[in-house]
Amino acid sequence: MTRPSRMFSVAPSLPPPLLPLRELAYNLWWTWDEEAADLFRRLAPDLWETAAQNPALMLGTISQKRLEEAANDKGFLAHMEHICTRFDEYMGGKQTWYKTIHSAAGEICIAYFSAEFGLTGYLPIYSGGLGILAGDHLKSASDLGLPLVGVGLLYQQGYFRQYINRSGQQGELYPSNDLYHMPIQVQRREDGTPLTIHLVYTGRQVTAQVWRVQVGHVPLFLLDTNLPTNSREGRHITKRLYGGDLDMRIRQEMMLGIGGIRALDSRGILPMVCHMNEGHAAFAALERIRILMARCNLSFAEARELVSSSSIFTTHTSVPAGIDLFPPKLVDKYFGDYYPLLGLSRDEFLALGRQNPKDKNEPFCMAILALRLADQANGVSKMHGEVSRRLWRNIWPGLLEDEVPITSVTNGIHLRSWISGDTIAPLFDRYLGDRWHKESSDPGVWQRINDIPDEELWRAHEQCRECLVVLARQRLRAQLERQGAATSEIGMVNEVLNPESLTIGFARRFAEYKRPALILRDSESLRRILTNPDRPVQVIFAGKASPDDKHGKELIRQVVCFARREGLRRQIVFIEDYDMTVAHYLVHGVDVWLNTPRRPLEACGTSGMKAAANGGLNLSVLDGWWPEAYQPGIGWAIGCSEEYEEPDHQDEVESQAIYHLLEKEIIPLFYHRDDGLPREWIRRMKAAMQAICPIFNSDRMVGEYCERFYIPAAERYQHLAARGMARWADSP
Ligand SMILES: *Cc1c(COP(=O)(O)O)cnc(C)c1O
Repeated sequence: MTRPSRMFSVAPSLPPPLLPLRELAYNLWWTWDEEAADLFRRLAPDLWETAAQNPALMLGTISQKRLEEAANDKGFLAHMEHICTRFDEYMGGKQTWYKTIHSAAGEICIAYFSAEFGLTGYLPIYSGGLGILAGDHLKSASDLGLPLVGVGLLYQQGYFRQYINRSGQQGELYPSNDLYHMPIQVQRREDGTPLTIHLVYTGRQVTAQVWRVQVGHVPLFLLDTNLPTNSREGRHITKRLYGGDLDMRIRQEMMLGIGGIRALDSRGILPMVCHMNEGHAAFAALERIRILMARCNLSFAEARELVSSSSIFTTHTSVPAGIDLFPPKLVDKYFGDYYPLLGLSRDEFLALGRQNPKDKNEPFCMAILALRLADQANGVSKMHGEVSRRLWRNIWPGLLEDEVPITSVTNGIHLRSWISGDTIAPLFDRYLGDRWHKESSDPGVWQRINDIPDEELWRAHEQCRECLVVLARQRLRAQLERQGAATSEIGMVNEVLNPESLTIGFARRFAEYKRPALILRDSESLRRILTNPDRPVQVIFAGKASPDDKHGKELIRQVVCFARREGLRRQIVFIEDYDMTVAHYLVHGVDVWLNTPRRPLEACGTSGMKAAANGGLNLSVLDGWWPEAYQPGIGWAIGCSEEYEEPDHQDEVESQAIYHLLEKEIIPLFYHRDDGLPREWIRRMKAAMQAICPIFNSDRMVGEYCERFYIPAAERYQHLAARGMARWADSP
């Protein structure tokens, strides 16, 4: 893996009047501000589409002539002026929620660590829900004005890109990211040199360069080891997200946690509060302890108290297989020299990551390390809180299950990033005013959805469904052409899907417990439902399987082959390469969002919230977030939270429940029209938006983290520090 040979893009130089565009292009704020996006679109509409709506790429490739034209176009300059004023106002952050409510909290700094961040489609350093949640967290932290910084890794190749071959098999591609056309910038020291940090791996030093992504006010620092001065092994540490073996995984997690703290430290930031998003980041707590011990002359126990009291750990999984476990030998290999820096013996160190500290064979678990070093721990829905208390109860042998100190903060979505900017957001702007994003957690704001005329909401939604159908056809055509399909087959593509049919979406990681093929179980019932000429129904699937998950890949093959059956090709489509772009089309355009996890394994799920915010109705097992949101009239529940002994029996009962709901309730409701409109369906769309938007949004979520964890943690930290817990000379 080498760096792109072109170290500097041959960026056309911006005429002076257009200089503000550069700052706008390199701040992701524009991605959730429709008017700012329009400015870039206006600059070069055709290029906007071909440059994947990436202004950084656009400014790097646009013709000098077009720039000169824009620089002399009064209309354009006025538009830009207007956006810049709004941007400056936003960046000034004078009246944020945090400033208003927590002005007394004093100077604090919160660091948010995550192995992945899903901020925008063309910054592909995420794989799925965990990353998107982290991205939405940063965006809301910016909107609310929190003093927060993000820390992550800049992967040369990101997560894999999926393609499906003729026989329905998933293949993986790893194109390299074009760093010089991504909205990232080299972080520099005061003297202008690039900021780097160092980490020693088994005696060999690896250097990482620090990049910066600006997310509104919030900086996200990303570490990149792909430097010519590093060994091949060193360069590969940030090659792929979740790529490689355990050896690679521990190296990456060292870079994220330890390297991340060093990167902040070298910027003069020693965070008062650390939030570890999933166990990947847990080494950050160790490095904070090490630094406090070294600088302030604290014992391990003292430094640990300070660090634990100000650390937050969020767990996102209910599936033990999803948790990193390192064999003790591997930990020795990489941390043998680190144990003494913490004043710990090998056994004492390894005990931090073990359920039973005395069990010498137990592997080292990152989630346990995080639980032991963070006094605040939470799951991501109420149900997941319960599941996590049960899963981890052995770490607190003296406590009853409901005393286990793991609480929950239910996930939410960044509404402005997920609501269709072309159709639904303008309706909200018109009928709800800007309070729908400035005070999104106030249910009163959402009551005004009743003021949106049924026709307008329905027209907006139908437009989204049509865009989804167009995308599905485009992707299908590209796939068939690539596979060398016959012209006749490619010609059929325009008959696939119907922009007016009831559209069901299922998009998520293809893993056994999510049961993507559940709806296919009784193929004759499904065929009957989909091909009813009076009330046709269609299903659009998307999702990747982990490259090493044979079972997940087999599920993809089943779905793809099912979609090729005679008489079903027009009703079932699998869209390749599920990512944020595909997700946008899907959650905007579906009528029904299907979710079929095997209860209680879904930690939360956020895609159903995205669909609901755009007027989609959820049809879901009562798992994850859905039991908190569900009420009759805003969507449907599959089953009523029964427990099953026999998975096969469960699948049978629950698939039949889906067919039954579809035939008896959902389809009749959708196709029942008064004056051409499905009035009762629209009533439910509105009821779902009103019930779901004010609660399941990331402003509410980040606000909750702030009030329940960040502020109390900062206070504890300040209190402990002020008590002069210590002989430390000056505060860190
Ligand atoms: C929202 C989102 C997810 C997470 O959704 P789940 O409901 O947890 O499956 C995953 N991938 C993409 C691309 C998303 O946009």
